[in-house]
Amino acid sequence: MSSDKTTILIVEDEPAIVELVSFSLKEAGWNAVAVHNVADAWDFLQRRTPHLILLDWMLPDQTGLRLLSRIRSDRQFNGLPIIMLTAKSMEEDKIAGLDHGADDYVTKPFSPRELTARIKALLRRKLPEHTQNLMTAGVVTLDPVSCSVTLEGHKIEIGHAEFKLLKFFLANPDRVFSRSQLLDKVWGDHVVIEERTVDVHVLRLRKALKEAENLIKTVRSVGYMLSEK
Ligand code: CA
Repeated sequence: MSSDKTTILIVEDEPAIVELVSFSLKEAGWNAVAVHNVADAWDFLQRRTPHLILLDWMLPDQTGLRLLSRIRSDRQFNGLPIIMLTAKSMEEDKIAGLDHGADDYVTKPFSPRELTARIKALLRRKLPEHTQNLMTAGVVTLDPVSCSVTLEGHKIEIGHAEFKLLKFFLANPDRVFSRSQLLDKVWGDHVVIEERTVDVHVLRLRKALKEAENLIKTVRSVGYMLSEK
C-alpha cells in the first residue's frame, strides 16, 4: 500500500533539473519520483498513480505532449493533475499544452519557489483532501497534520483506513460516492479489495464517530455520503 505522503512524478530527462526539482519537492514535504522518458512514465503509471505529474515537453523517446494526450484519453488517469515543464516559451506551444489538457505550465528556467507554489495551488484545486488545514463537520474535527480526529475536542481512536475514509468524506461533503468510487479514491486504484470491504470500513468509521455516526449517510443502492443535514 502506498504511503499517504503526496507523491509527485517528475518526467524529465535533464539530470540537473531532475535534481533541482526533486530537492525542492522533498523540501516542501512531498515524495518525488523521477523517470526520464515517456515509456518509463507510462510504466510507472501502471504500477502506481501519483498525485501530480511534472511533465517535460521534450523527452528522448516521445514528446511530453504525446504522454499528456495518452493520459487524458485514459479513463483511469484522465483526472491526474499535470503541470508541463517547458523550455518553449512561445505562446502557441503553451496553448497546445493547455489544449491537450495540461492544468498548468512552467517555463524553464523557473524558480523552485514558483514551481512549488504552482503545485500547491493545483493540488488545492484538484485534490482538496490533500489540504493541511483542519477539516470539520459538526462536532468532528480531523487534523491532517497530526493525523488525529476529535469529537468536541476529545481525541478518538480511529483506524488508518477509517481515517482516510473520513478525510475523503470531509473533503467532499454532501456528495454521494459509490463503493467503487470510494475504493478508487481512498484506497488507490491498483489495490484489489472487494466492494464489500467498503461497507466494513464505513461501519467501523461510524462506530469510531460514536454520537456523530449519523454524519455518514447511506444512500440506498448508490453508496455513502457525509452530510450534516
Ligand atoms: Ca527535456
